[in-house]
Amino acid sequence: MAEVLSTIAAILVKVGGLVQGVGYRPFVYRLAGECNVKGWVINRSDGVLIHAQGEIFEIEKFAGYIRDKAPVAANISSVEVTKVPAGDYSGFEIQGSLPVPGSITGISPDIAVCHECIDDLKNQPARISYPLINCTNCGPRFSIISKLPYDRNHTSMDSFAMCPVCEKEYTDPEDRRFHAQPLSCNSCGPSYSIAINGYPGGISGSHWSNGATASLPGSPSHGPGLNYDKVSRLLENGAVVAIKGTGGYNLLCDALNPGAAQRIREIKGRERKPFAVMFRNTDKVKEYCRADKNEMDLLQSWRRPVVLLKKNLFGQAEKIPGLVNGGLDTIGAILPYMPFHYLLFEQLKLHALVFTSANTSGDPIVFDDHKALNLFGTQADALVPYNREIINPVDDSVCRLAGKNVQILRRARGYVPEMISLPVTVEGVFAAGSDLKNTFAMGRDNQAVLSQHNGDLENYEVFCRYRDNIDRFASLFSFKPGMVAYDMHPGFHSSKFAAKLAEETGSRHTGVQHHHAHIASCMAEHGIVKTVTGVCFDGTGYGDDGNIWGSEFMVCDYHGYERISHFDYIPLPGGEAAITEPWRIALACLRKNGYSGTERWIDMYLKDVPAENIGIVDEMITRGINTPLSCGAGRLFDLVAALTGLCTIADYDGEAPMLLESICSAGKEDGYDFSEGIYPVIDQVMSDLERGVAPGCISSLFHNGMAETIHKKARYIAAGAGTDKVVLSGGVFQNSYLTERVIRLFDNDKLNVFINKRVPLNDGGLALGQLAIAAETL
Ligand code: ZN
Ligand code: FE
Repeated sequence: MAEVLSTIAAILVKVGGLVQGVGYRPFVYRLAGECNVKGWVINRSDGVLIHAQGEIFEIEKFAGYIRDKAPVAANISSVEVTKVPAGDYSGFEIQGSLPVPGSITGISPDIAVCHECIDDLKNQPARISYPLINCTNCGPRFSIISKLPYDRNHTSMDSFAMCPVCEKEYTDPEDRRFHAQPLSCNSCGPSYSIAINGYPGGISGSHWSNGATASLPGSPSHGPGLNYDKVSRLLENGAVVAIKGTGGYNLLCDALNPGAAQRIREIKGRERKPFAVMFRNTDKVKEYCRADKNEMDLLQSWRRPVVLLKKNLFGQAEKIPGLVNGGLDTIGAILPYMPFHYLLFEQLKLHALVFTSANTSGDPIVFDDHKALNLFGTQADALVPYNREIINPVDDSVCRLAGKNVQILRRARGYVPEMISLPVTVEGVFAAGSDLKNTFAMGRDNQAVLSQHNGDLENYEVFCRYRDNIDRFASLFSFKPGMVAYDMHPGFHSSKFAAKLAEETGSRHTGVQHHHAHIASCMAEHGIVKTVTGVCFDGTGYGDDGNIWGSEFMVCDYHGYERISHFDYIPLPGGEAAITEPWRIALACLRKNGYSGTERWIDMYLKDVPAENIGIVDEMITRGINTPLSCGAGRLFDLVAALTGLCTIADYDGEAPMLLESICSAGKEDGYDFSEGIYPVIDQVMSDLERGVAPGCISSLFHNGMAETIHKKARYIAAGAGTDKVVLSGGVFQNSYLTERVIRLFDNDKLNVFINKRVPLNDGGLALGQLAIAAETL
């Protein structure tokens, strides 16, 4: 008799990465059903463990699908499969959670509402028009969690008891809402309310207690029956409405109404910084913006960031007042991401809304209901809160594409706190980040967790938010600092804070050079450990010699760097003031060059600058008072923007460079010659201006010349250092014209070019580099 060969196989699969709070276990459960696999799946604090047994071909299929068909928000870093003896199982089951002491658990970022939930808004009796609908594939995560493990009682859903309908779905492994922690419906969940202004004393005159709904005489409209109609009519009539979003409040108004947009400018105290625009759907995005497939995918992804897109000049873009997008050639577009947004657009006749974080200039995003009421109660026309607490405030993220490369300019909702795997162990390292566009980082094992965008620490409220967020992250990720890293800038608040933290905790600590940290951030996210040629172009960074650096060509690894080359230093009369008033830099450079037409230039371009101020700056220049030197590449963009009269006084950080990029005429190939330094370039700009060359043309000559010089120098340095890797980082590379061009120039070389993709290449990514450097040097 022939021996009967068993065709049954059993495997143990360990899945690592972000697999919790993203619907992974129910997915495995359903997959097991499809593949006739028996066994179990269990959540552990270090990932998910699966025992699977069945026919060999089914097991193979199952093992393949575990990664390939995983839910969109899952981020699988490892799948380990081992053969094990088959057990005695009659079915497949989801077992309870198992803590593994000392292990690291990922926390899912907040996920945009999914299509199935949007359908449910129309079809599910308990959730008809329920503005906070969610499931295991979508909904708030990071913004509502207070501690781990990610269970409902550790979120701000804790105060809402589930009704029997929700309870049934929550406990049914076959259901899409199985263990969806924020699960709720019209009868048991949190709800929106509306308070409309127009009463003496405004909304703030109304009674409003924490967690309760706002009520006003004659105007309350809350609970399941929130009157979207009312909000819609207000917006259509030019009102400004403050709406509670996922990670904080947003201010909204009709994007085509300059008067309404102006009011938001007044509330925020921002003159020109671009507002994002929320479009009804992708068709409307295309009417106003040009977007290729990559941009569309990013816009529609579950992370749902603001994506900077070029205006569609053949479409409706001109209808958007310059007041909204800061007069740039781009629009920061975003699609609806909360169920509330979809329900609003159903009632709304408008297709485009200004959508900006609710705060006053420089302050952190407002997420507390009382604060929102105090700040916007009298200034906005309506306030639309919901009664679930936001625990972790988080802004909307901002991205752009440079060629095929996604650049994250502000890493917040949808990205944070996703961990980043590093090629080095960073256990116990705290990196304080920069004072500008601050984020901090904590190291666990070989993973970095980077905080959400905090803002500029010069602002006291932002600094307080920074400290709060540090405490929260330390508790969420069971983090205890053993090493502390910070920027070498002695005046940075983050550096002082870090030094104190190191002292209090008895940690070893180190200051890290700014541009070295930028390059290391890019190396770290790309898993590079060997020596590279680093090109760091940014605005301001403290150099070893006490000067301001920022056009750095270096050869480096994590242990150290050699500064090979940089642009000429130029004077910044008034220091910080020269950054907000680029005309000062321009004047200083013209004086230094002995340019004969300086007085003519002043008459033409400095009409808005009081003569007295010009006199003071001239005095500073001649006597060298309070005039630090900088070789920051960002300052050169400021300089050219001021020389051409495009931006003599900036309203926000980066305005001058953004304006200069936005007028760049495409299709030009030649560029200024940077080989003799910056001052001859200034001469070339001035002689072109005199000859009547258009600023757009000067801009492209400047961009092209800079790209050319980056390519040439980096190639030369790489050859000398014997490295085939060129790493680009620093805020200047947010300029997509420049970046695309630089990358294209490298196309024909045998060099590999790397640029930040997962963390911002501006100072928002600095902490990651500090983390890697400190881990390797301390
Ligand atoms: Zn959903
Ligand atoms: Fe920087």
